[in-house]
Amino acid sequence: MDKRISRRTILKRGLQIPFGGSVFFGLAACGNDGSSSAMVCADLNMMTSAEESVRRTLKYTEISPHGSSKVCASCAFFNAPAQDGGCGSCEIFARKPVNPGGYCDSWSVDA
Ligand code: SF4
Repeated sequence: MDKRISRRTILKRGLQIPFGGSVFFGLAACGNDGSSSAMVCADLNMMTSAEESVRRTLKYTEISPHGSSKVCASCAFFNAPAQDGGCGSCEIFARKPVNPGGYCDSWSVDA
C-alpha cells in the first residue's frame, strides 16, 4: 500500500486543523480603489483560525513579490472574480477571496 501523501492533500487537510492564535500579516477588510494590486481581499474577521493559519503558512500576500510573473490571477487554483476588478477566490483557501495580484507559496500553473 502506498502511504505517500501529496502536497495538495496535506494542504487541504490543513484547512481542517484548528490552529490557535490569529495574529498574522496585516490584512483587514475588503476594499477596492480600482487597482487589483491595491485591493485587500482577505477579511480576517470572516475567517476561522484554521483559514488564517493556512494563509500564514503559505505566506499569502495581497501583492505578489514576483511582479506580474507569478500572481493569483495566473495560478491554477485561482477562480476569476464575478466582476472585473474584484477579488477572485482560491481553491486552496476554501474558495475564499484572494487578490488577483496576490501570491502564496502554493502558486502553480499545474493544478
Ligand atoms: S494557491 Fe496561492 S497563488 Fe494560487 S490562487 Fe491561491 S493564494 Fe493565489
